[in-house]
Amino acid sequence: MNNQTLEWQALNREHHLPPFTDYKQLNAKGARIITRAEGVYLWDSEGNKILDGMAGLWCVNVGYGRKELADAAYRQMQELPYYNLFFQTAHPPAIELAKAIAEVAPEGMNHVFFTGSGSEANDTVLRMVRHYWAVKGKPQKKTVIGRWNGYHGSTVAGVSLGGMKALHEQGDLPIPGIEHIPQPYWYGEGGDMAPDEFGVWAAEQLEKKILEVGEDKVAAFIAEPIQGAGGVIVPPETYWPKIREVLARYDILFIADEVICGFGRTGEWFGSQHYGNAPDLMPIAKGLTSGYIPMGGVIVRDEIVATLNEGGEFYHGFTYSGHPVAAAVALENIRILKQEGIVQRVKNEAAPYLQKRWQELADHPLVGEARGVGMVGALELVKDKRTRARFEGGIGMLCREHCFQNGLIMRAVGDTMIISPPLVISTTEIDELIDKARRCLDLTAKAVRS
Ligand SMILES: *Cc1c(COP(=O)(O)O)cnc(C)c1O
Repeated sequence: MNNQTLEWQALNREHHLPPFTDYKQLNAKGARIITRAEGVYLWDSEGNKILDGMAGLWCVNVGYGRKELADAAYRQMQELPYYNLFFQTAHPPAIELAKAIAEVAPEGMNHVFFTGSGSEANDTVLRMVRHYWAVKGKPQKKTVIGRWNGYHGSTVAGVSLGGMKALHEQGDLPIPGIEHIPQPYWYGEGGDMAPDEFGVWAAEQLEKKILEVGEDKVAAFIAEPIQGAGGVIVPPETYWPKIREVLARYDILFIADEVICGFGRTGEWFGSQHYGNAPDLMPIAKGLTSGYIPMGGVIVRDEIVATLNEGGEFYHGFTYSGHPVAAAVALENIRILKQEGIVQRVKNEAAPYLQKRWQELADHPLVGEARGVGMVGALELVKDKRTRARFEGGIGMLCREHCFQNGLIMRAVGDTMIISPPLVISTTEIDELIDKARRCLDLTAKAVRS
């Protein structure tokens, strides 16, 4: 390793506490230092070129190196670098962005509450749905039902709404008033049921939980259209239709966490449109700015806005809600997505091609299932394809390491390898991604055998 890399690694150890990191492990090894990026590629401090199969953290939808986004930020910083939206003030970027989002959002969702991140968006929905029911004279409708292994961010509310037990264990979470139901993860938890049968069963767990808690105490159900961080869990075909049936029977709100699925990832503007769902609230972040600058928000259905209008002041917001520079970047990002037809291209060309090539990996001896929708995909690594038995101790991290060493970023969630490349990835770059993934699977299989 070169001296510059070693120096950065030492400083990282001495002064920085990075997120979601085992510090002892990192300190023994040293971080990989990423120094620049262009299109779908990253370069590290050793000069290695890496295909970013994860678009950063599911967010760089328009790819790296878009000068228009940098120019939008530069212009806005000179014009009005900051002003807040509290106490009856506003500024053009936030107003114009709210309108641009409403234009691509599902019918009847015409307002946006801005936040600084996806986690803050989920803190916002928790407070907003409880406030909504209180304004409607039903303050006892407080409980939010989430799903085991869902991910809704890393703040106290985000972790609580999410269903990751390892996260719950750190910090005595979830907070009261949050319940969880099983996830629609057929490959991992479907047992002897057929996928369609399991999808119905998983959706019925929502009804069971509503009845157990009492409809008069349930405020909302929260779910990602496709679970991302949980391992790109694509629900069986029967799941969302059955969930819609259950939701129609009870007077509770539906929150679709669109932080990953939003802004084109599925080939529609939002994952809810891909599945034909009609949520009441949609947390957004990530692809909203293609990750160039932090920003999140919640898109809110008109009927909820009408109730909030009668509720007096909503005592909630952030110093950086609707930050003008972030809003200017998001506006430019949406302009690029529209003008270059990127969402359409995902639907008609990129996603069909990626999914076809991704499926070819299912014949690999280590791969028990290859699945995906739009521009996300998952591979289940198993010891025995028939019984779906895993390798003892897991091999996901080993596979991830081979990917890193061979110029591909693929993330491991346990023994599920996942991808979520920039939406602008070309067909030749998809070919490269698949070739590299296969090579890394081969290397992993070889390492496991020896
Ligand atoms: C990433 C993510 C979040 C949290 O967003 P942050 O910007 O990291 O706070 C929330 N929900 C989902 C579905 C996510 O993938």
